[in-house]
Amino acid sequence: MIYCSGPKVPFNKPFIAGNELSYIWQAVIKNGQTSGGGVFTQKCQSWLVKTLESDAAFLTHSCTAALEMSAILCDLHPGDEVIMPSFTFVSTANAFALRGATPVFVDIRADTLNINESLIQAAITSKTRAIVPVHYGGVACAMDEILQIALDYGLFVIEDAAQALLSTYKGKYLGTLGHIGCLSFHETKNVISGEGGAILLNKTLEEDLASRAQIVWQKGTNRTAFFQGATDKYTWLQLGSSFLPSEIAAAFLLAQFEFAHEIMEKRRRLVDLYSRMLKPLEDFGFIRLPKNLGKGLNSNGHLFYVLTSGLNERSRLIDFLARRGIVAVFHYVPLHSSPAGRKYGRTSGFLAVTDDISARLLRLPLYYEMEPEDVELVAQAIKKFYRN
Ligand SMILES: *Cc1c(COP(=O)(O)O)cnc(C)c1O
Repeated sequence: MIYCSGPKVPFNKPFIAGNELSYIWQAVIKNGQTSGGGVFTQKCQSWLVKTLESDAAFLTHSCTAALEMSAILCDLHPGDEVIMPSFTFVSTANAFALRGATPVFVDIRADTLNINESLIQAAITSKTRAIVPVHYGGVACAMDEILQIALDYGLFVIEDAAQALLSTYKGKYLGTLGHIGCLSFHETKNVISGEGGAILLNKTLEEDLASRAQIVWQKGTNRTAFFQGATDKYTWLQLGSSFLPSEIAAAFLLAQFEFAHEIMEKRRRLVDLYSRMLKPLEDFGFIRLPKNLGKGLNSNGHLFYVLTSGLNERSRLIDFLARRGIVAVFHYVPLHSSPAGRKYGRTSGFLAVTDDISARLLRLPLYYEMEPEDVELVAQAIKKFYRN
C-alpha cells in the first residue's frame, strides 16, 4: 500500500461494509471463541462453497498460506518443476520454492497479461508437476486449454485466484476450475479481512483433495476427525502448518462477504467509466487500455491499468499525477529478473512480453468509495499530461 500525505485520490482505500465490529463482538463476547475454526469460520466457508459452487473451502490467514498449502498437497520434492508466469506476486513462486521445487517462468499474453497457454507445452519436462495460472486483475486465464494440457501430462492445476473473487470463466467461478484455487482477502483486494485468504478444493478432479487439505490445515493432524469422534487418537499424520485465521478475522470477513456482490458491481462501473473516459487517448495512440475480454470472461473489476509507451513516460506520468494528489502505481517487478527468482527459478523461452509490459503498466486508483467525479479527475489529469 502506498501512502502519501493526504492525496486527493489515494490508490486504495479499505472499505468497511458495516457489520464487521458487531460480528467480532458476537465471536468474542457471545460465542467466546477467538481461535480459528468456530462459527464464523464455518459460515465463511459455507458462503464460499455455496456462492462459488465449490466442493470444499478452508479459510486461511492469507493467499500466501493457501498457496503454501497447495504446494504441500501436491507432495512436491526438490527438483520438481512448477510452471507459472513471471508477471505475478512473489507468493506464487515462494510457496513452491519453499518445498524445493523450481518455478519455471513462462511469458504472458499481451492482451490479458495472463500466462500464455500456447507456451506452456514447451516448458514441460519430465520433472514438471503443476501449472499455476494467475488470473491477473481478476481476468481469467485460458482455462480450457490449460486444463487440457494438465490432463494430457498428468499435472496439477493450482489457480492463483488472489485477485479473482467472483470473476467467472464460461459461467464458472475462478478458483473452482483447477484442482486447487487460492483466494486473497488482503486489504488491497476487493473483499478484505486485513490479511486473509482461502483454499478451494475440486473433488471432481481429485476425490480425496478436500480430506487431505483438512489435515494439512490442522497442522498435519487428524484434529477434526478426532473431535468428530471418527478416530480415538489425536495425532500427527503428515506435513502441515498453522493455516487457520482467527475467528476475529473470520467474523470481519463474513460482513464483507455479505457485501461482496455490491463491491464488485461498483468496481465494475468505475472500470467502465475509466475505459470510456480514456478511450480517446487510446484512439490517438498515446496509451493502451485493458483489452476487451471476449466472450465468457467476466472480471470482478479488481483493477484498472493503462499501458504507457515506456518506462520513462510512465515515471513522468506518476510524478505528474502525484503533484495533483493522485496516487498511481506500477505493478510487479518480473520474478525472473529478481534476485530470488534467478536463484530459485528458471525461464522457459524469452519473456519479452513480460519485460515490455511490466515497464509500461500503470495502475490507477480504484476502490469502493471512489466516486465518478474521482475517476473524472484522474482521467482529466492523464489527458492533460498527454496534451503537454
Ligand atoms: C495478493 C496476491 C497474492 C498474495 O495474497 P496474500 O493474501 O497477501 O498472501 C498472491 N498472488 C497474487 C496474484 C496476488 O495478487
